[in-house]
Amino acid sequence: MSKASLFVAALLFAVCAPLAAAEVVVGTNAEFPPFEFTDDNNNPIGYDMDIIQAVADAAGFSVRIQNQAFDTLVEGLESGKLDAAISGMTITEARKQKIDFSQPYYNAAQVIVVQEEGEGYETIEQLKGKIVGVQLGTTGAGMVETVLGEDNPNLKQFRKYNEVFSDLKLGRIDAIVVDLPVAQAYMRRLSGLRISSPRMSEEEYGIAVRKGNAELLQKINDGLTAIRANGEYDRITDKWFQEN
Ligand code: GLN
Repeated sequence: MSKASLFVAALLFAVCAPLAAAEVVVGTNAEFPPFEFTDDNNNPIGYDMDIIQAVADAAGFSVRIQNQAFDTLVEGLESGKLDAAISGMTITEARKQKIDFSQPYYNAAQVIVVQEEGEGYETIEQLKGKIVGVQLGTTGAGMVETVLGEDNPNLKQFRKYNEVFSDLKLGRIDAIVVDLPVAQAYMRRLSGLRISSPRMSEEEYGIAVRKGNAELLQKINDGLTAIRANGEYDRITDKWFQEN
């Protein structure tokens, strides 16, 4: 190689290596409207997708979205396959043992969904003896486990919310425990369902990173602070939640 081409190669490396390093692989489960779901071309869209893109733009990194099952996101971070995750994920003490969370970016709550004509359960205790559908690995699943018990066959754990809601419509289960905005989004798609409980928990969503990845966490927190200050956060929130 000539000196000149060596120089060009070194220069290209110097310019491109930091760019490549700045790509952040972000896991999500695009089954959770309006936070993440897929468009007609199977591309993940939604509130979380806009938030992470705005954060990345503000903090100067690029994002590659990886769509996978919700209950594999934490292990994806632990094993290093994912750099970050945004998936309507509630900040919990149990998860904080394994991963780190950004500042909260959304407040949600668990609610009970039933058939419009069916019995309306108002508390988690009233679900005892009922067949209840949840998504695997969620805070809603944890709440139902506390009354039904972990190994109770009446606790139906699904990987896809589509299937939980269609089973409720078909009367295969008596109730669903799910995050309120997601219940509302599915009820707009499917008729004949209603929310029967008040808010049963107060939960905050955070963006997760691998435990100890302080550099990326700082960028994400700085990005969140920046988009709250410049109006982008409000614009995205209005876009997806203007009906509330
Ligand atoms: N907020 C709930 C949790 O963190 C549900 C998240 C989800 O199903 N995507 O467990």
